[in-house]
Amino acid sequence: MPDSSTARDIAKRVVRYYRRTRRDLPWRNNVHAYSVWISEIMLQQTRVAAVIPYYERWLRSFPTIEALAEAELDDVLAHWSGLGYYNRARNIHSCAKEVRTTYNGRLPSSAKELRALPGIGRYTAGAVSSIAYNQHEALVDGNVARVVSRVFAIEDELKSTAGIKEQWRICGALVPRSSPGDFNQGLMEIGALLCKPKNPECSVCPLMTHCRAYREERTNELPSVAKRKAAADKPLLALNAAYLERGGKLLLGHRKAEGLFGGLWELPTAPQREELSALTGLKLDFYGETASIEHAQVLSHRRLHIQVWPAQVSGRTHLRHGSPYQRLAWLTPSEVPSVGISTATKSILERTTEIRNER
Ligand code: SF4
Repeated sequence: MPDSSTARDIAKRVVRYYRRTRRDLPWRNNVHAYSVWISEIMLQQTRVAAVIPYYERWLRSFPTIEALAEAELDDVLAHWSGLGYYNRARNIHSCAKEVRTTYNGRLPSSAKELRALPGIGRYTAGAVSSIAYNQHEALVDGNVARVVSRVFAIEDELKSTAGIKEQWRICGALVPRSSPGDFNQGLMEIGALLCKPKNPECSVCPLMTHCRAYREERTNELPSVAKRKAAADKPLLALNAAYLERGGKLLLGHRKAEGLFGGLWELPTAPQREELSALTGLKLDFYGETASIEHAQVLSHRRLHIQVWPAQVSGRTHLRHGSPYQRLAWLTPSEVPSVGISTATKSILERTTEIRNER
């Protein structure tokens, strides 16, 4: 645990580094709680460069919490389409509605109140309250965890309960009362730009003089990271999807709100190819015995493998009892991007377009 003069010096260095080198990112212009909240949720598990166009489009369509609360969930999911982890978008939407009702459309400033809202955890609450409201709150994300684990030579595994507790304890002791937001962003910036998982750039790091990992030549060992489960060890979810066109329109199913991929649109998908006809109510004559496209994707707890089957269609769509879909709809190519489609279906449709363009 740092003594108070070490904590003060570290805070000073981090804030100075941030103010000198901070990257010009859209959510850092005209900072307000709404922009911090949306950008922080989008940035979880996603690279900055990939987030920027999503963020800008989001703010154009939903410039305020009021506008977001009034939007249809389908429209919100469409704006999230491609970012994955769709529960986040659903939570953002519920949260906006609650903020409109309970807080008159303005996110509260206290981390405690923020954490009581849907989808806002300790990290996001710390980010919004410190960056947007200048509250004396710490935060720990993956980048910050790596930096403090190295500087203070935390031996506990990076994501273990003991490791996480120690990282928060240290960050709580470091965050200064003045400029907590710049300090928190500075630590994240050091983690993103200098203290990278491999080959950290210690020679230009403002924390070099305080860093035990550097001093003890242990930057390769710290932080201690448990071996990740290899993708091949995850259970396989094998599915079959129907690629059905009629009159230039494509058939998509809108999944019920609950369960895997809830609320998203996708190609009609079932465990077995033989189930696709009952799933859609249509008579299907598959064009061949080989799938046109195979889609493989690693999810957080399993691997997904989808075989895609084009077929000739006759009859009318009909939803059977117990269907995973709330609705089946024939959509034109221009309508598809305006609904929230699953990452798998998005990738399958892109591949189909590529194949057609190659012909
Ligand atoms: S000195 Fe090196 S290991 Fe230590 S915080 Fe800076 S970049 Fe990371």
